[in-house]
Amino acid sequence: MGRHRVVIIGSGFGGLFTTRALSRSDVDITVIARTGHHLFQPLLYQVATGILSEGEIAPATREILRDQRNARVLLGLVEDIDTDARVVHWRNHNRLEETPYDTLVVAAGAGQSYFGNDHFATFAPGMKTIDDALELRARIFGAFELAELEQDPDRVRELLTFVVVGAGPTGVEMAGQIRELASKTLRGEFRSIDPAQARVLLLDGAPLPLPVFGRKLGKRTQLALEGLGVEVRTSTLVTDMDAESVTVRDAEGTIERIPSVCKVWAAGVQGSPLGRVLAERTGAQLDRAGRVQVGPDLTVPDHPEIFVIGDLMSVEGVPGVAQGAIQSARFVAALVDARLKGAEPAASHFTYTDRGSMATIARFKAVVSVGRVKMTGFPAWLAWCFLHLLYIVGFKQQVITLVHWFISFLSRARSERTTTNQQMVARLALERLGEGSSGKLVTGEE
Ligand SMILES: Cc1cc2nc3c(=O)[nH]c(=O)nc-3n(C[C@H](O)[C@H](O)[C@H](O)COP(=O)(O)OP(=O)(O)OC[C@H]3O[C@@H](n4cnc5c(N)ncnc54)[C@H](O)[C@@H]3O)c2cc1C
Repeated sequence: MGRHRVVIIGSGFGGLFTTRALSRSDVDITVIARTGHHLFQPLLYQVATGILSEGEIAPATREILRDQRNARVLLGLVEDIDTDARVVHWRNHNRLEETPYDTLVVAAGAGQSYFGNDHFATFAPGMKTIDDALELRARIFGAFELAELEQDPDRVRELLTFVVVGAGPTGVEMAGQIRELASKTLRGEFRSIDPAQARVLLLDGAPLPLPVFGRKLGKRTQLALEGLGVEVRTSTLVTDMDAESVTVRDAEGTIERIPSVCKVWAAGVQGSPLGRVLAERTGAQLDRAGRVQVGPDLTVPDHPEIFVIGDLMSVEGVPGVAQGAIQSARFVAALVDARLKGAEPAASHFTYTDRGSMATIARFKAVVSVGRVKMTGFPAWLAWCFLHLLYIVGFKQQVITLVHWFISFLSRARSERTTTNQQMVARLALERLGEGSSGKLVTGEE
């Protein structure tokens, strides 16, 4: 009999923290993930706006786990799970693989939801992956470049109108950063246009930005954004979109077409397609966002050997945040370890401890909500910097991030402004070429 085999799908917070927490356990771990890196999603917006490079927020998983001898990392896209035979089916491009498991931990996270309007994705990339952030970087800086070439003032306005959809933390952070980029970073660099004339709009269907932070902080965030020059439009829904515009409907039902070339989608979450696969194979239920409803011990019904954690699990009162993934990962690792030792687990039911929420608005401005403590402004921004630095994996990444923050926050310069045509067009070009043109690892879809 070999050692107990734990297969972990995903190398995000859920996958990585489960792997690390099992480092001393008598198990063989196989981590299978569709990207070779561990992505720190909370700082994606800084990659998109030229503050950080992708390597700083996405170190190689293989490097992180180099010294963990009981863990192996494989790059591949999991497509199916045979829950009877206990085998994971996956592929690396056109190479098909099968990996058997005794315990399976599914930490495949969530993607962007366009609320049934998937064609919006063509015009407004989401913010979930390194690819998304680099495409957005190319689109944002590219809009200024195109505007510099234009003679027609209407077309210049269209190119210099940036629309961010969704006023959660990511939308607020993106809008604030694009505004700073336009007003400060790019000042004096163009000859035909004044980048500071750019419009930045932040749209949301809710009455205030950052609904999870409560009314008071939402109001303060709105005022701070407006003080920077961001146009915040709340109670406003996007009804349509094309390459040149966004159409919106406000609370009174007034429809308006906003000419805008560069759009960012930061609204809506949809569980990974692996959630549906698991539901079909095990009879587990999905919630409206496609997340898997798990039992109190985070297993799926009738399958004590299959755990779903992080953004893909649906558990009442647990938000889709890093702490949800980290805490569920540690809980599952402790449970698996206790089972193998035949010991009582420290806890048989998962309980979530809310550690609060935070978001930056702009340089030296942030909002923090931890229990009864509500902070805004500079102290909140310092707390935000400290905590985010703490959770970046890897000392090298932490040091380089700190250096880049100094450059950006003290001089307002951005050190990561490189953009390429491939970043800008590759996603849509691949979609147009179709499945035959690339392996499934690239497209991820049938
Ligand atoms: C832009 C943004 C900003 C955020 N900001 C914050 C914040 O400030 N604070 C906070 O607490 N949380 C924040 N979050 C949420 C937080 O990042 C997530 O809750 C957390 O990453 C969830 O971890 P996870 O492991 O469940 O999923 P993920 O981190 O998404 O990891 C999923 C993993 O599964 C892999 N995968 C997916 N499908 C497959 C497949 N079929 N086969 C193989 N591998 C697969 C992926 O490659 C990835 O490695 C933010 C999220 C985003 C997108």
